[in-house]
Amino acid sequence: MNHVAPARTDVRSPASLVVGLLAAAVLTIIGTLGHPILTSSATSVGHALRGDQHSALGVAGGDVPDGVTVFDARYPAVAKLDPALLGALRRAATDAADDGVEFVVNSGWRSPAYQEELLDEAVAKYGSRAEAARWVATPATSAHVSGDAVDIGHSDATAWLSRYGAEYGLCRIYGNEPWHFELRPDAVSHGCPRMYADPTHDPRMQS
Ligand SMILES: [Zn+2]
Repeated sequence: MNHVAPARTDVRSPASLVVGLLAAAVLTIIGTLGHPILTSSATSVGHALRGDQHSALGVAGGDVPDGVTVFDARYPAVAKLDPALLGALRRAATDAADDGVEFVVNSGWRSPAYQEELLDEAVAKYGSRAEAARWVATPATSAHVSGDAVDIGHSDATAWLSRYGAEYGLCRIYGNEPWHFELRPDAVSHGCPRMYADPTHDPRMQS
């Protein structure tokens, strides 16, 4: 074969191809990563997984009708929260009301059966128990089942709590769950502890 010095365009074409393939690969990666980032904007795990559907277990199992507030003790999801957590939420909600902000409870206490239902749905959605664990705890590890966690809406309420919640001991725990709050009494004097990126980094989930 004769060797012919490549013209300038012959040199550049493979390079352009490589650049094009790299760009396509980057777009693919962004598309893949974008999914959970978009999902994290949903108002609660339960709502993210099931839209407007509610648990077949009903309010006795911890399901919450739309629009229930932290003052509405008719529902076990609110009434079975740890009394100290509920008290802090009500004090904060009373002050937030002065700013025109209302705390809606999207999820609070959950029965073990309801938690298992959420976990099963997460496994179906995310394809594996390991990936589902990034979003939904087991009945044994969930702070919702023990009454120590609440998922608050709407976004004005979570924004208010992110800013002022520490004054009441109310802290965000997970970077990927801006709606999920738990009581950390030391936060009143020391501020909230550093957040975990997601529940898989929480030592309580390692059981
Ligand atoms: Zn939660």
